[in-house]
Amino acid sequence: MAEPNLYEILGVSKNANSGEIKRAYHRLAKEFHPDKNPEAGDHFKEISFAYEVLSNPEKKEIYDRHGLQGLKEGAGGAGGFPGDMFEGLFGGLFGGPFGGFGGMGGMGGMGGMGGMGGRPRKRKGEDTVHQLKVTLEDLYNGKVAKMKLSKSIICTKCQGVGGKAGAMQPCRTCSGRGIKITMRQLGPGMVQQMQSVCPDCRGEGEMINERDRCKACKGTKTVSEVKILEVNVDKGMQDGQKIPFRGEGHQQPGVEPGDVIIVLHQIEHDLFSRKGDNLVCTHKIGITEALCGFEFSIQQLDGRNLVVKNPPGNVIEPGGVKCVPSEGMPHYRNPFEKGNLFVKFDVTFPETGFITEAQVKSLEALLPPREQVQVPEGENVDEVNLEEYEAHRNSHGGNRREAYHDDSDEEDPGVRRVQCASQ
Ligand SMILES: [Zn+2]
Ligand SMILES: [Zn+2]
Repeated sequence: MAEPNLYEILGVSKNANSGEIKRAYHRLAKEFHPDKNPEAGDHFKEISFAYEVLSNPEKKEIYDRHGLQGLKEGAGGAGGFPGDMFEGLFGGLFGGPFGGFGGMGGMGGMGGMGGMGGRPRKRKGEDTVHQLKVTLEDLYNGKVAKMKLSKSIICTKCQGVGGKAGAMQPCRTCSGRGIKITMRQLGPGMVQQMQSVCPDCRGEGEMINERDRCKACKGTKTVSEVKILEVNVDKGMQDGQKIPFRGEGHQQPGVEPGDVIIVLHQIEHDLFSRKGDNLVCTHKIGITEALCGFEFSIQQLDGRNLVVKNPPGNVIEPGGVKCVPSEGMPHYRNPFEKGNLFVKFDVTFPETGFITEAQVKSLEALLPPREQVQVPEGENVDEVNLEEYEAHRNSHGGNRREAYHDDSDEEDPGVRRVQCASQ
């Protein structure tokens, strides 16, 4: 079984400098501190042990050369660390010399555990999300969009240290712990202890003297860089679809950069709306077209003109929907397959007065015969008028209601109101 790797425990590379080791330790110590994460107590000891060794140049060298065995042999000797602590860790935690280490997989609070033993995965930075506006044409035809983004990258001049080698000083405010502890008296004998991120070093536990700071990044360890991302908008992509760029997020020392995520936002199209892979449009026709056939053209999203023909005799009813097969959106990742185009017909009728009485006669002769309706007769029948209805006249039409009121015989005002409303 492999020995536990102290670098992996801290999630740093073998070449990590003392600053990176220290930061990694602070971060993990915060995360796995028994106060916060009681189940990870053993892991916390492991982290502390790894830091104990790697932060001490002498022990680090022994470890680098001879591994844990070398440390064990040197334990108790001059410059070593207390043998009992070592035994305690390796006897209990690592279960025998080093063989039982693999058994640690069951420890709590270790979300990022890999197969390599108790290695917490390197912390990943946050993803950066950007919106990219695209037209429906872009989603139909596909395109490459260039996006100019500014991101932080690790300062090349100081390799992300922030200053000259050795310029890092433990923060005085927090004694290098990165956290500030404040006590608050709650009452007699009751003290609340509060932890917060150290404001002076922003939780990093170390600071650089102003004059030693890297000129390029002013000690911030990162600089801003403008980067052009080429975003491939593929045929058939959807509004809201996410296009990830792995590891292109902001860089920070000791942190695996997050991703840049481009989210497509489709601008509404004048003619088409999209339902999945189908396109939908509305076309206005007159009554003549609805009854007697028509042709018209639609400009497709790739610029082609689609001539749509409806032969005479194929009657289109108002709101009727017809389908043009395979003229919808290309399928994502299978763009030769396309959805359908649905055309919804809005039929406009002639206005009142447009048709003369004589024309009505000729139309009647052509159109199907009227349906025969039997109208009731007798005392219980009122003949009423159909009038143009204007909502505003009814809303403050006190006079009008008054008029109805006057000549009604008051026996059923509800009926009157219904008649009024349905004019
Ligand atoms: Zn720098
Ligand atoms: Zn501090």
